[in-house]
Amino acid sequence: MYDIIIIGSGPAGLAAAIYAERAKLDSLIIEQDYINGGQINQTYEIDNYPGLPGISGFELANKMKDHASGLGATFVREEVTSVDLVGKVKKVITNSNVYESKTVIVATGAKHKELGAIGESDYAGIGVSYCATCDGAFFKDKVVAVVGGGDVAVEDAIFLSRASKKVYLIHRRDELRAAKKLSANMMTIENIEVRKIYGNGKVENIIVHNNKEDYDYDLLVDGVFVAVGITPNSAMFTDVLAVDSNGYVLAGEDCETNIEGVYAAGDIRKKNLRQIVTAVADGANAVTSAERYINY
Ligand code: FAD
Repeated sequence: MYDIIIIGSGPAGLAAAIYAERAKLDSLIIEQDYINGGQINQTYEIDNYPGLPGISGFELANKMKDHASGLGATFVREEVTSVDLVGKVKKVITNSNVYESKTVIVATGAKHKELGAIGESDYAGIGVSYCATCDGAFFKDKVVAVVGGGDVAVEDAIFLSRASKKVYLIHRRDELRAAKKLSANMMTIENIEVRKIYGNGKVENIIVHNNKEDYDYDLLVDGVFVAVGITPNSAMFTDVLAVDSNGYVLAGEDCETNIEGVYAAGDIRKKNLRQIVTAVADGANAVTSAERYINY
């Protein structure tokens, strides 16, 4: 019987592992992937993690993993396939084992939806980005396109317009899905051009399809920001954990879910900003809450 089982070894899970080891709690980290670190492995350069400017995602992931391992954290490479979280003894079932624990930290993260455009995966991280907050600064004085029509796409376009030379917002429908006030704010920024089109692209020159008049044309850009949605990896938990309409687990800063002894940390939690700093903060908070629960 473990004190804490941590599902997922992205920044939230790795920070939780570090805090659990330092608290001398008997913990296990279960990760399905061959590498630890989660989404940060997808990015070449991270320029907003305090104290480590310009570090590669892979290197930061390794540092976090080494830190946790150095303190004695135990990792297994298994996929969690189901859970039984109600009751004092929590069961975590993987493709090869059944584990029991007093508490569980769900840190399974999220996935950015892809456009499915030709060249998209080839240029991911070298011109195609899924995170304006993360990569916007690399496009100072450049021409970029944001693809998407919701609040995040419009927020990204406004954010990017502050440093980029020009921002195209490319979306599919007649109207933006984003909140009217947000869209109205964006319209007042001169360097954003809204086009009612569908993007299908590669960097430098994306091929855009105008689906109203049914023709393709080229658009010269230095970067493409894909903002067509994020899906939390929460499907396995939604029958017991309370989630919002998008599937994010409802938990406050203490990471406590609606089930005693179960905590949600990182991108899977409903929150305003999904970044490494907020994920690691959650990992620390989740362990602190779990420790309190175990002690009392
Ligand atoms: P994740 O990183 O998503 O990790 C979740 C882990 O859980 C994964 O390893 C996954 O394999 C594992 N898992 C999922 N399901 C299971 C299961 N059933 N069984 C076992 N394991 C499972 N943030 C920044 O602050 N700065 C940046 O520059 C930056 N750049 C980014 C660039 C890209 C391309 C992307 C996609 C994101 C970027 N982010 C950046 C965001 C940042 O990576 C995330 O906010 C952060 O990784 C969230 O951490 P997490 O631990 O919550 O989840």
